[in-house]
Amino acid sequence: MSKKIAILPGDGIGVEIVAEAVKVLEHLKSEGLDLELTEAPVGGAGYDAAGKPLPDETLALVKDADSILLGAVGGPQYEALPRELRPERGLLGLRSELGLFANLRPAILYPQLADASSLKPEVVAGLDIMIVRELTGGIYFGEPRGIRTKENGEREGYNTLVYSESEVDRISRVAFDIAMKRGKKLCSVDKANVLEVSELWRETVVKVGEEYNDVELSHMYVDNAAMQLVKWPKQFDVMVTKNMFGDILSDAAAMLTGSIGMLPSASLDANSKGMYEPIHGSAPDIAGKGVANPLATILSVAMMLRYSLDQPALADKIDAAVGRVLDKGLRTPDIMAAGCKQIGTVEMGDAVMAELA
Ligand code: NAD
Repeated sequence: MSKKIAILPGDGIGVEIVAEAVKVLEHLKSEGLDLELTEAPVGGAGYDAAGKPLPDETLALVKDADSILLGAVGGPQYEALPRELRPERGLLGLRSELGLFANLRPAILYPQLADASSLKPEVVAGLDIMIVRELTGGIYFGEPRGIRTKENGEREGYNTLVYSESEVDRISRVAFDIAMKRGKKLCSVDKANVLEVSELWRETVVKVGEEYNDVELSHMYVDNAAMQLVKWPKQFDVMVTKNMFGDILSDAAAMLTGSIGMLPSASLDANSKGMYEPIHGSAPDIAGKGVANPLATILSVAMMLRYSLDQPALADKIDAAVGRVLDKGLRTPDIMAAGCKQIGTVEMGDAVMAELA
């Protein structure tokens, strides 16, 4: 049966990098994979086309799709818009409307790019961490929220950090399942020494862990986790944490690898329907210049094949093709190194296609 893939390029370099990933999807189609690709606007492009960052037609398309490939959203021209019309609202809307509660953020250091990391090669060589971040709960969504004026006339901002047992239970299960398929080590990151929410989080993770005897479960306070990530990141296999902690730690982990242009991500619902996207933004500083690295988006297609389309062999093929392109010394400017050949977005997409063919 045909799988419906919604293609949402978004804004800035999103358009350029998604075009390269679509080449890969078209190639898979020509090899017999039954895919139906449909493109729609989101973010600033959604605002331009339909007056809101998540147009009704785009929402209907993604709800009907089996998987979604997203580029990136945002740009300086949209920053003055009211908050509810800003591109980022389109992204938050997609996550909450589709119930994409599990964000998978791998931080992998390709051996060919070991010099790109700001840490010593021996600290990061062979790095392969999976951060599982809760994505639809916690302080980014908690109510009440707002800015109010106190009796003395001073304004104060407030947000609510709240997690129910069922929310922690389901994200823990995703993390334990992934740990089972990897190194069987899971570190749950919280702030249980200060926050009641974290106390409940830890209790719930421990309870779920009783069903996963093969996984070695540990706990770490988020401040220590931030230190350990830069001190000795290879101690981690899978990490699971709440929305805000995961937001910050996964970006720190990403930088250990040297380039955000290399890292894909997945956001999954309870039935493994997923939205796949590079971790970076729309990079307005290089948009339209043909220099953006499309590999994170192409690797997002590999994640889609692995986690939503049940095609692990094809996912391996794409990962291997990217590895061979790096072996040949082909580099976009963000990962350029001495002795390598600098190429642009389209050439990088073509190089991966050549390896796949
Ligand atoms: P960014 O990730 O867009 O860019 C940060 C830096 O990394 C820039 O110097 C950029 O040129 C570079 N970079 C990013 N992706 C690259 C790639 N594929 N190849 C080469 N270089 C790359 O972050 P930012 O500048 O903070 O944000 C720009 C816009 O993107 C903002 O509007 C922000 O809100 C938005 N944003 C969107 C998402 C998303 O759509 N998921 C995520 C983060 C930021």
